[in-house]
Order: sequence, then structure tokens, then C-alpha cells
Amino acid sequence: MIFNPGVRVVEKKQLLPDLFHLKFEGESLASRAVPANFVQIKVSKGLDPIFRRPMSIHYADGKTFEMVFRTVGRGTHILSQAEIDQEFDCIGPLGNSFKLPEDGERAVMVAGGVGFPPLYFFSRFLVEKHNFPKENILFLLGMKTVSEKPMADDLLKLDIPLEFSTDDGSFGFHGFVTDLFEAHYAKKLRHEKIRIYSCGPNAMMRRLGQIALSFKVPCQLSLEGAMPCGVGTCLGCAVKMRGRNDYYRVCQEGPVFDAEEVEL
Ligand SMILES: Cc1cc2nc3c(=O)[nH]c(=O)nc-3n(C[C@H](O)[C@H](O)[C@H](O)COP(=O)(O)OP(=O)(O)OC[C@H]3O[C@@H](n4cnc5c(N)ncnc54)[C@H](O)[C@@H]3O)c2cc1C
Repeated sequence: MIFNPGVRVVEKKQLLPDLFHLKFEGESLASRAVPANFVQIKVSKGLDPIFRRPMSIHYADGKTFEMVFRTVGRGTHILSQAEIDQEFDCIGPLGNSFKLPEDGERAVMVAGGVGFPPLYFFSRFLVEKHNFPKENILFLLGMKTVSEKPMADDLLKLDIPLEFSTDDGSFGFHGFVTDLFEAHYAKKLRHEKIRIYSCGPNAMMRRLGQIALSFKVPCQLSLEGAMPCGVGTCLGCAVKMRGRNDYYRVCQEGPVFDAEEVEL
């Protein structure tokens, strides 16, 4: 566990009314971070709120690291008020990472809404650190509606094959991102070597896991359940092991699991 008491905000962007992008200077954290790692950030100086909030690392370049988050409650609202030069106390990087695709495999990223940060980092990591061909990545991003498109600004700059779905049909495929995957790609699974990576709401990953298991395609899910402590003690993030009467702790054994390991 690595304590980083003074990571400093160096950049802030508001992508949507409820979506923020923060960049922090913090070398000890940024130099160790790999895709799917997350931090436990203390959003205020005092004891209220008492628990840190888990956030995926959207990107890290060795000196700085970034996060993109949606304001859903008090903790994320406080974080959205962060100012340039403000310092935060972060524990991290925490968690495991994705398995790399094998030779000849296509890496298919399936992201639901603000589940995209670990998959964005992983796509960049594959291209920048592993010379993975961009055309062998396929990124599918599901959003509610077209007005959420600014969340894809960084993804568009990556210049990888990218497709969108919206729940209301206002942009890209009309339906859930799992429907997009099923409609356009599931039938190809028998002929192409594919490895699926996913992050988003549990219902989305449950469905994707079912598809992957039925086609016997390797699939990894990065889970984002509620996580009060983040260091393995409170058991608040427990997730049921598939076929066993036992649980994994997302913060310790995850957040990435093979789809066949967990019951969502
Ligand atoms: C490993 C991990 C990585 C994460 N990465 C990101 C990220 O990159 N970007 C991002 O926006 N969020 C991410 N989250 C979710 C984020 O941690 C929560 O949204 C945040 O903790 C909510 O805090 P809050 O105080 O604002 O809301 P709270 O007041 O704690 O909760 C407000 C509402 O949000 C719901 N809620 C709380 N946590 C979650 C959750 N994990 N999933 C769905 N609903 C939740 C609550 O049930 C409640 O209805 C991640 C979570 C985990 C475990």
C-alpha cells in the first residue's frame, strides 16, 4: 500500500455538467500505475466524509496521473470542486491489471459510460508500451444519449477503431453496448481470435460475461462496486465467486476478474 499525501491538481476539465477530468502531479503513484489500477482518494481534509472514494486511473505518464469521474453523491461532488494546486491524499496505485492479448488476438474493449477510464488506459498502454497494432483494438462505448459524447474526447484522439451506442438511438447504434456487441460482433467470435475487456455497470458486464462464456471467448471484467476501505478489511466490495460459496474482495483480488470467476 502506497500513501501519497500530497498529490497536486495540475489540470481540471469539466466534460459534462456531471463529468470531470482531473490531472494530478504525483510521481510515486504515477510511476507505478498500470491499467485497471485505482486510487483511494480522500476528498476532504477532515473526517467527513470518513471513507475515501475509489477512482480508476484514466492515464498515467510516470509523473502525472488522471481520473475521469461522474458526480453521483457527496464525495464526488466535493472532488468536482477541486482547484488547481489543491493537494489531495491518495492511496495507490491499488489493484491488479488486465491480461495482455495473445498473439493474433483482437482486443475488444466494451465500456459502459464512465466505465471507460481503465479501458482507455489499457488501449493506450497496448499501443504505446507493447506496439500493439491500433487496428487490432476495437473500442465500443455505450452512452445514454448523444449529449454525453464529450466523454469520448480522449478516446477519439487515440485514433483506434471506435463505435458508439446510445440507449435512445441519438448517436451510433440504438441500444445497449452489449446489444451492439451481440449484433455486430458476436457472430464473428467463432472465426476471429478475440479477447474481451470490459468495465461498466454490473448488469452490462453480467450480460457480456454470459455472451463471452457461451462463445468460450476470454473475457475480463473490471468491477466497480461500492468500496469503503479499499484495502481488504471491510469486505464492503465482496463479490460472489462463481460456483462456490465464497467471495472475492474486489479491492484485493481485483478489480479485474475473468468472467468465469465471478457471479454478478
Ligand atoms: C475500483 C473502482 C474504480 C472506480 N472508478 C471510477 C471512475 O473512474 N469514475 C467514476 O466516475 N467512478 C468510479 N468509481 C465509482 C466511484 O467510486 C463512486 O461513484 C463514488 O465512490 C461515489 O461516491 P459519492 O460520495 O459521490 O457517492 P455516494 O454518496 O457514496 O453514493 C451516491 C450514489 O451513488 C451510488 N454509488 C456509489 N458508489 C457507486 C459505484 N461504485 N457504482 C455505482 N453507483 C455507486 C450510491 O449507491 C448512491 O446511490 C469506481 C469505483 C471502484 C470501486
